[in-house]
Amino acid sequence: MIRRVGVVGAGTMGAGIAAHAANAGAEVVLLDVLAGAAARAVEAMAKADPAPLMHRRLAYRIATGDLPRDLAMLAGCDWIVEAIVEKPTAKRELYAAIDSVAKPEAIVSSNTSTIPLAALTEGMNPARAGRFLITHFFNPPRYMRLLEMVAGPGTRPDAVAAVRHFADHAMGKTVVDCRDTPGFIANRIGTLWIASALRHAVEFGLTVEEADAAMGRPLGIPKTGVFGLLDLVGIDLGPHVAASLMATLPIDDFYRAVYRDEPIVTQLIASQRTGRKAGAGFYRRQKGGAREAVDLTTGEYRPRAKSRLESAEARTAGELLAHADRGGRYARAVMLDVLAYAASLVPAIAEGVEDVDAAMRLGYAWRWGPFELADRIGIGTISAMLREAGRHVPPLLARAAEEGGFYRTQGAVRAALVPDGTWRRLVRPEGVLLLDDLKRAAKPLLKNGSAALWDIGDGVACFEIATKMNALDADVMALLGKTIELGTGGGFKALVVYNEGEQFSVGANLGLALFAANIALWDEIEKLIAGGQAAYSALRAAPFPSVGAPAGMALGGGCEILLHCSAIQAHAELYMGLVEVGVGVIPGWGGCAAMLRRWKGAKALPKGPMPAVVKAFEQISTAQVSKSAEEAREKMFLRENDGITMNRDRLLADAKARALAMTEGYQPPELTPLRLPGASGRAALRLAVEAQMHLGRATVHDAVVVSHLAYALTGGERDHTEDIDDAAIHALERRGFMALLREPATLARIEHMLETGRPLRN
Ligand code: NAD
Repeated sequence: MIRRVGVVGAGTMGAGIAAHAANAGAEVVLLDVLAGAAARAVEAMAKADPAPLMHRRLAYRIATGDLPRDLAMLAGCDWIVEAIVEKPTAKRELYAAIDSVAKPEAIVSSNTSTIPLAALTEGMNPARAGRFLITHFFNPPRYMRLLEMVAGPGTRPDAVAAVRHFADHAMGKTVVDCRDTPGFIANRIGTLWIASALRHAVEFGLTVEEADAAMGRPLGIPKTGVFGLLDLVGIDLGPHVAASLMATLPIDDFYRAVYRDEPIVTQLIASQRTGRKAGAGFYRRQKGGAREAVDLTTGEYRPRAKSRLESAEARTAGELLAHADRGGRYARAVMLDVLAYAASLVPAIAEGVEDVDAAMRLGYAWRWGPFELADRIGIGTISAMLREAGRHVPPLLARAAEEGGFYRTQGAVRAALVPDGTWRRLVRPEGVLLLDDLKRAAKPLLKNGSAALWDIGDGVACFEIATKMNALDADVMALLGKTIELGTGGGFKALVVYNEGEQFSVGANLGLALFAANIALWDEIEKLIAGGQAAYSALRAAPFPSVGAPAGMALGGGCEILLHCSAIQAHAELYMGLVEVGVGVIPGWGGCAAMLRRWKGAKALPKGPMPAVVKAFEQISTAQVSKSAEEAREKMFLRENDGITMNRDRLLADAKARALAMTEGYQPPELTPLRLPGASGRAALRLAVEAQMHLGRATVHDAVVVSHLAYALTGGERDHTEDIDDAAIHALERRGFMALLREPATLARIEHMLETGRPLRN
């Protein structure tokens, strides 16, 4: 059982790992050889963006110290992670020092990116070596889901199991087992990809924009492409990684043939243009905002220009690689390098193709790993392209061509091709339940164009929103209504509201709202608002328990559906908020009433009609969004009994278990009427808004929007002497929403949001 984690080295990785161990609930010790460095690293965590801590308060869990003085602080640690300079001698010396203070059963691991385990354990006593392994985190450790793990022949299985369990359940990582080879999996293939993409961009005479566009969407590679990625991680890191790989890779490794010292890289590093951290790299933004890109031959900047290559419009990977223009030929050259290299490395670097694919998806944020991508393109096509280029077809690829691919699905069962030509059934770990898996074999209980209802076993159903960005529309509401009918009739005993989109839901479909407002379909809009309120209220009042299980963004109406569930089981990365004022409206699907109720229930708040109103008003009028589930709890979006799951893949199973646990004797919540302060409360809120306007923090239209918000939250024309129920507050929400939608400034905000994805401050 891991409770105390030690981290040595408080640089980029060590600080990030320490923070994430604190997120995971551990007591942490962070040490560095530079005096005060560990303490400064913890101080810097509060300001770092993206934030390494899930809540600033969690810094209290990290004790800091300096080496060698404070070495003994490691004595109580169950797991000690080394994240110091990438030098084998320095690392080995440190392990000897750690061994002198650590408890005998403590596990020690290295975060090295390139040094083999065999080299790190050289000369180590066998008992220590039995509790030594490599745990390779990716930067930034909180956000990158991959953890590569290497165990040596002498590593004890219980040590491996303890770290695996903590990394998976508490830190939320997907642990991928790697063989003890240089660069492990993701960086081995990733650096080859980078080297090939750089080299071919220069050889084919592409601009950086053209190259990045060619690498993008059809291949499922993030739109930063390769040059954008180098700017992000630091261009100066490249030569170090290359040198380290060159020193350790097999003599005939393909990387040696592909990698070249590119003059442009040398030039950028020499002139301190090392990427985003330096304010300039392959791309830079001028002070005035002008965006520029470097000319790969001269090293001079010029205005950034969108790729005009036709291949940039390709929709599938196959289409892109077959395209005859420079972009297509470029993508083909690079991806053939990557696919052939990956195929030549299994089983040398990993037991199976599925491990390689997982590593590239989670470590490099590729949508598909190389073997999944090969299956999408077609193995025959790839083999033909390789032969046409006069290249060798690796045996594993040839085998996959005979077998028809690297993966096979039969019903819910997925299998991967093993290099010896047999097939391995892919089994999810205990406690991992994925809707995507279930969907492969099942038919939905209910379905329309925007949502579906699935049977996820044991009498639990899963309501899935399934639109672009999971935006909400009338069809989602209609299917939710039918779902509640089905459950009320005994069709299932508990409901989970969950989906596997990147975002749980970005809220109402603004495009539809704008369209309807532009042609003055006021009745239709009001019907949609009233319909959503009715559906969400029915969900709350249903005779069966419902558990909302969000991950990623849950904004506006996406937040409101969760506020009406009986409980929430959230993924730790939760971005939840009522952001309606950003587009010039107020929450209209019960969000105002629900937040009033949540704040009324807050223990720390003084009694009386006003405090809850002030809290809800502050929160909604400034469109506050949580930056983690931990923060969502503080903002009362999550309540005391709601749960948090660290591992994304475990969210559905946890939500289902929570839902099942609630079925016995379930009673929907009783909604006692509220007392709201009325006009006098509004006057106080108005003063606060005026102060914000004087400070230049609120615009004229902000004031208009929040005056409607204040009207709804304070109970309209009633005051604290009268009871008000949710239906009456809902009517006030609708009234404010409809009035605001007729304001040109609101429509301008919506239009701007649709065009740019950002709020307009008009
Ligand atoms: P860094 O240079 O940012 O930090 C290293 C820290 O270790 C420094 O604060 C330094 O003072 C301290 N240090 C050096 N020698 C020490 C010693 N003997 N005892 C105690 N502290 C010592 O480096 P980093 O980028 O955080 O990398 C750390 C390790 O993680 C390396 O092995 C690196 O290969 C690996 N890694 C880095 C990344 C990345 O993206 N930066 C990703 C994965 C793995």
